[in-house]
Amino acid sequence: MAVINILSPHVADMIAAGEVVERPGSVVKELIENALDAGANNITLEIKGGGSTYIRVTDDGCGMAPDDAGNCFLRHATSKLHDERGLEAIETMGFRGEALAAISAVSRVELLTRRAEDAEGTYVSVAGGEIQDMRPAGCPKGTVFTVRDLFYNTPARLKFMKSDRAEGVWCVQQALRVALGRPDVSVRCIRDGKEEFFTPGDGRTDSAVYALLGRDAALAMLPASGENEGVAVRGFVGSPAAGRGSRAMQFFFVNGRAIRSQSLQAAVEQAYKNTLMVGRFPACVLYVTLSPGAVDVNVHPTKSEVKFSSEKRVFDAVHYAAVSALQGEAKPLTMDLARTTEKKLAPQRPAPDQDAPVQTRMELHSPRPAYNAGADIVYRAPRPAPAPTRRPAYQVPVRTAPAAPPQAAPAPEKAPAPVREDEPVRVAGEVLRTYIVAEQGDRVWLIDKHAAHERMVFDRLKAQGREIMSQTLLTPQTWRPGPEAMDALRESGQLLSELGFELESYGSEDLIVRAVPDSLDPGQTIPALEEICEKLKKGSRDLARDSVLQTVACKAAIKAGWDTDPRELLALAEKVVSGQIKYCPHGRPVAVTLTKKELDRQFGRIG
Ligand code: ADP
Ligand code: MG
Repeated sequence: MAVINILSPHVADMIAAGEVVERPGSVVKELIENALDAGANNITLEIKGGGSTYIRVTDDGCGMAPDDAGNCFLRHATSKLHDERGLEAIETMGFRGEALAAISAVSRVELLTRRAEDAEGTYVSVAGGEIQDMRPAGCPKGTVFTVRDLFYNTPARLKFMKSDRAEGVWCVQQALRVALGRPDVSVRCIRDGKEEFFTPGDGRTDSAVYALLGRDAALAMLPASGENEGVAVRGFVGSPAAGRGSRAMQFFFVNGRAIRSQSLQAAVEQAYKNTLMVGRFPACVLYVTLSPGAVDVNVHPTKSEVKFSSEKRVFDAVHYAAVSALQGEAKPLTMDLARTTEKKLAPQRPAPDQDAPVQTRMELHSPRPAYNAGADIVYRAPRPAPAPTRRPAYQVPVRTAPAAPPQAAPAPEKAPAPVREDEPVRVAGEVLRTYIVAEQGDRVWLIDKHAAHERMVFDRLKAQGREIMSQTLLTPQTWRPGPEAMDALRESGQLLSELGFELESYGSEDLIVRAVPDSLDPGQTIPALEEICEKLKKGSRDLARDSVLQTVACKAAIKAGWDTDPRELLALAEKVVSGQIKYCPHGRPVAVTLTKKELDRQFGRIG
């Protein structure tokens, strides 16, 4: 009896799906790559529930004709490859015609698409590989794919998925890689209603690096470029001072496609010999361009690995680009980049007075205001801007807050002011270099400036969620904590790194501090760590997190006895008066108030 059975196309699709669609992030990658192949200039990705319940990719690319809209879900249906000759020089992201067949075999997909030249678009819905519905539909030029309930008909695969959070992060990572590869295309990524990133699509690699990897990483990069026998390399490599604990920040693109390659990793890392410590890895974003015929992308199901016809040529080109970036006159990315990028992105960023602004990654990484007072403060004080009396953060180039036009102090009011909730806060001054005296309506406030600021920083840190932003120290600091403290630090290594500290042992007794939380003044690094060690020796882990944040906030906050910029005082007073800040992180009140009535009574003006 014959034992060989030819699998039905549906089963074959399900098997192929296993190779192409491993996780929700694979769907994200395939759909965005299709949008790029369709010539889109703007792509929006939305995901919900880690991607397994909902992934939508909208593009303004070429769209599909009605027939193609139905056929695109068939196995080996592709517009990108016609015969085997085409395989020798692939210039598109896709070519096998597998992705949509694979995705639609294991999910519910809806497609809405229209070409510019067609009056009407097409709607198609597919579930488990079967077309459910197909009809003409009105829609803008371009294509929208919505993928729901991934793996709903393959429960075994569903079981292998990680938490929604982990899958969601992976989806964003995949999108980020694809977006980083194509700085000429604008990509917006929204997860559970929150914008994760947005690239301007202005064709500048520095803008893409800035928007996707954040300001700190961008500023620690050196431009790299080189050419070797038809292989061109450009992009950025991290400065040796900004070595990282893993290779997560190494990105390689070959003809715009994100790839993994141990050989290219080695090409970069060898350039850092003796400048990076063992166990540290350079960051890099490198774009390799070579003739499509010199690279074979058809060696891996997800095409994330490639073969070069001459590995050595590519290796050398990448290696020399990195070496010359490190040796050469290469200037680090400067604030210019930050400014221009910021300007470009500015229209996309929510205006401060908009309702419920979307928190963007750009926002998080935007330059810190000079006074360390939190990005959410609007300077409204009608006073001339004096020079900051507090030293700003060391290595981070600082954008000064916009100077308000000079204006005379308001004339004293004769009639008692009507009491209104929304009246402006006026800071009358500061007493004992500790308390802010402010008034609003008929109420006088005495505010403990350190306690209030500490609360503000603490809230801001907490709002950043699990991973606190960190800043790399220009000059890493060495520190000998003592054996007990060392043990406490070792046990809490993971926690400290989540909170933005990057510590590394140096010999058996010393530590090198490479990065600290963004809010912390680098000068306070060691005092903060000493206090944290004391706390770690006592508290339980969960308590430890808040208590470490408290220490960071306390050390980051302005202190009683310091001269403080009047605008910072006003910003604080406004937060306190509006009720946003009531207690310091230790539970002490931050303000006391007196009403006009209470004062009048004290002075015997009223009975
Ligand atoms: P491949 O990308 O390998 O060709 P896919 O299964 O990913 O295979 O896509 C099948 C075909 O569907 C593509 O070749 C293309 O013609 C069409 N297609 C897919 N996505 C889009 C899109 N966003 N815009 C226009 N056409 C698309
Ligand atoms: Mg494709």
